[in-house]
Amino acid sequence: MKIFELLATHGHERIAFHHDPATGLKAIIAVHSTVLGNALGGTRRWVYGDEAEAIRDVIRLSEGMTYKSAAAELPMGGAKSVIIARAGQHPTEAEARAMGRFVDTFSGTYIAAEDVGVNTQFCDWMALETPHIMGGETVSHGGDPSPYTSQGCFNGLKACLKHAGRKVDFAGLTVAIQGVGATGYKLAKLCRDAGAKVVATDSNRAALDRAVKDLGVEAIGNDGNLLHTKCDVLAPCALGGVLDRATIDQLQCQIVCGTANNQLLHPEEDGARLKARGILYGPDFVVNAGGLIRLAGLYLGMSEQEIDRKVEAIEHTTIAVLKEGAHASSTHQAAVDYAKRRIEAGRANKKAVPTS
Ligand code: NAD
Repeated sequence: MKIFELLATHGHERIAFHHDPATGLKAIIAVHSTVLGNALGGTRRWVYGDEAEAIRDVIRLSEGMTYKSAAAELPMGGAKSVIIARAGQHPTEAEARAMGRFVDTFSGTYIAAEDVGVNTQFCDWMALETPHIMGGETVSHGGDPSPYTSQGCFNGLKACLKHAGRKVDFAGLTVAIQGVGATGYKLAKLCRDAGAKVVATDSNRAALDRAVKDLGVEAIGNDGNLLHTKCDVLAPCALGGVLDRATIDQLQCQIVCGTANNQLLHPEEDGARLKARGILYGPDFVVNAGGLIRLAGLYLGMSEQEIDRKVEAIEHTTIAVLKEGAHASSTHQAAVDYAKRRIEAGRANKKAVPTS
């Protein structure tokens, strides 16, 4: 793997590797951009197949955070971190504190929070070592951002329905949700409460059973079937890379709109493939920005009302991006262009400000 080539291709500013001998922590922080401000991005704790997989993940995720912040009109950059976990090894306070010390070396240009595998407790443990943590409940603040992510995605879904020329009426709609964890479960609840029929799958039987029992969702036996289920909306709410040539060819939905990051395995080709199939794609980093808006908003000192208004505004941003998507190779590309215009405007403003 050629690291500098990778950084240049994706436009990263910085990547740092850390090993803590005392705890065995192996972690990577990637800062994609600080053009618009300090960069807030979750810490993912995952058992990777190898180190190259972890590097690719943190590179892709951190780039996505830059676009997510910019499209949400936050004065923030984009960054992310990953912890390379060992199979069967549970998170500990010592490991989290070692990660907190690593985050602290960025002096606030990187602010960590939760992602897959990291919860509010882990954030609070990290925050014992650095003030540059959001998403905890006691030492740091903000708490679990997933309700805001789900609400924002629901708002993005309304925009997709409008753009597709459909009534924003969930009665009679079938929404298929892949992954009913923190965000997927709450999205399922919002859709069900609005009158939709929800079908779902989850590789974790207990999570699926809970959604069936509490929300009355219809369980679909295995993952492959869900992606091929006839439905109005497919909502990927598990891990990334689920949409590729093979899966897109088999989709039987009109709209894809979910909370997962990096849903397109090969963004340019797969975005265009969805468009060619006449499937409307709500770009992931636009529709799933609610959690970032919540934590970044608190970090920036916004009020709860301002944060709620910004999460509501996801509907308008999604509509604007989908309109531009009509003239672009895909709605994904339109969203990247939309975000890049904001970053370039920020860069130009910085240049215009005298330095002394
Ligand atoms: P989570 O871990 O709480 O839930 C994910 C669920 O997906 C789990 O129940 C898991 O068992 C299930 N799952 C994993 N692989 C699966 C598969 N192949 N098929 C079916 N189910 C599978 O995570 P979450 O916080 O809900 O995040 C889900 C996605 O949304 C991730 O991509 C995350 O990066 C993204 N996201 C989350 C937030 C947030 O606020 N939590 C914000 C933005 C983006």
